[in-house]
Amino acid sequence: MALMERFDHFMARANAAYYAAQDPFEDFTTAPELTQVFGEILGAWAKTVWQMMGAPDDIILAEAGPGRGTLMADALRLWPREQVHLIELSGRLRAEQASRVPNAIWHESLDTLPEGPLILLANEFLDALPVRQFIRRETGWRELHVENGAYVELPADIELPDDPVGSVREINEAAEEFCEKLAAREAVALFLDYGPLQSAPGSSVQAIRDGAYADPLRDPGQADLTAHVDFAAIAARVNVQGPVKQNAFLTGLGLFQRSDFLARKFPDKAQNFALAAQRLTAPEAMGSLFKAVALCPKHLPRLPGFEI
Ligand code: SAH
Repeated sequence: MALMERFDHFMARANAAYYAAQDPFEDFTTAPELTQVFGEILGAWAKTVWQMMGAPDDIILAEAGPGRGTLMADALRLWPREQVHLIELSGRLRAEQASRVPNAIWHESLDTLPEGPLILLANEFLDALPVRQFIRRETGWRELHVENGAYVELPADIELPDDPVGSVREINEAAEEFCEKLAAREAVALFLDYGPLQSAPGSSVQAIRDGAYADPLRDPGQADLTAHVDFAAIAARVNVQGPVKQNAFLTGLGLFQRSDFLARKFPDKAQNFALAAQRLTAPEAMGSLFKAVALCPKHLPRLPGFEI
């Protein structure tokens, strides 16, 4: 089948197949799966932000890409809600989410969320969205396409800066569009994801299969494809606070205090709480490459964790 498609379309298709059929949590561990404290901090954060918004009765709490539903289940202990909204495409993961968050309503995109004030949480969601990839050749910019498991370059149909020959640029149109839709409805959204503070050149696309790096073009649907999130590109389009490094964000919001408290309460799990807090904050683990960024209307003051 000689189907040629743009790289972002390939990535979208490959990831939809991956999340529909595979258990991603055999391939990688995410923050909410390491410790309940992660979701609890985000729940407390959301509740405080709601109060800063004037505590509207009709507030909507939502999460994008909720994985196993662990983050939301933990968040709801700190801020109980009658109903929450989950944006998830995978039927398999929706079933897992239902077991932990029985009071959820599911959506395929932002478009079907009810109207009204919205707080959205998303951990490792934006990095799963497809990116367009461009490479600078002697004759100009080319956009990467995929055909029969190999890259094909076609002349780019958008303007890009005049980088040196051989440079690669990525554009995450899906992430930018997602953020613009949130901004248009004056939502507050908290994204935790990995990516540099400044836009960085080069390809950041990675494929993880069976816990190891793999070729992104091989066996689409067998590997998880991600790209670093270009926070600066998002900040250029919508109002944000941050990004700040995940360790500063979580430490400022009491990660260690809450972990110590739970360690004393559940002595047989004390070591888990300590190790998870370490892993989330150590610069060589998840503390530094991961960032927190809050999208919010301009009139809001500094949100918790973004005071500096
Ligand atoms: N937030 C979870 C899971 C991260 S994995 C955690 O931290 O553990 C990425 C999640 O995003 C999965 O739930 C996946 O199914 C979902 N996802 C990926 N692309 C999506 C899309 N385009 N729309 C909605 N959900 C998507």
